[in-house]
Amino acid sequence: MSSSDHNIAPATSYDHVALSLSEIRQGIADAAVKAGREPSDVTLVAVSKFHPASAVEAAIAAGQRVFGENRVQEALGKFSDLKPLYPDLKLHLIGALQTNKAVDAVRIADVIESLDRVSLSDALARAADKVGRMPQLLIEVNTGDEGQKAGVPREEAESFIRASRARFGECVKGVMCIPPAGEDPTPHFRFLRSLADMTGLPLCSMGMSSDYPQAIAEGADLVRVGTAIFGSRPQLP
Ligand SMILES: *Cc1c(COP(=O)(O)O)cnc(C)c1O
Repeated sequence: MSSSDHNIAPATSYDHVALSLSEIRQGIADAAVKAGREPSDVTLVAVSKFHPASAVEAAIAAGQRVFGENRVQEALGKFSDLKPLYPDLKLHLIGALQTNKAVDAVRIADVIESLDRVSLSDALARAADKVGRMPQLLIEVNTGDEGQKAGVPREEAESFIRASRARFGECVKGVMCIPPAGEDPTPHFRFLRSLADMTGLPLCSMGMSSDYPQAIAEGADLVRVGTAIFGSRPQLP
């Protein structure tokens, strides 16, 4: 048993996942159409953190192929075996990333959504040299400028994006944010979209279970939905 296994929910039924997924897909389609967008322009990232591999398998059986995980070790545990079985499976790392996890992250991730500092850029560049591949990268922006939160501060975001673009070229695909809890997320979504447009980045990752329709209204290309698909999860230790 690895040290992170106790964070994963115990065996439970994930029979509801197929129905929940179809409801979320419908919610995405409704929000997209309302915003005059194509439903297929919005990618659903199913956030399976703290849920076991059986939850991921239930979602795969229901046609889901894009998943999000917060922790590298947990992602390795679940996805190392599944990826060879499903070549079209995509894994997004969406949590704060420690530099000492960069090699494993670069090995397993298709997209790292949480690039937010130069020291991590350095670690990812070294890891990419070693592993021989580089995932797509999104820059995480701390749109609420919250003290404890990951992400580039608002006022440094544009220069960090430009520097990352210069360093990693086309691997840098977009931006990501997690608006402050308890605030209206719409101004944060709007800020992130305008930042992406201003810097010429195609992708905005924004919106979670509680606010993905608003995010799509403001131009989200990726929405990261966990609880509304898999159910509640244990809190962080
Ligand atoms: C956990 C998490 C989500 C999913 O949140 P839900 O409210 O369960 O949909 C999305 N994005 C990030 C960065 C997360 O850590």
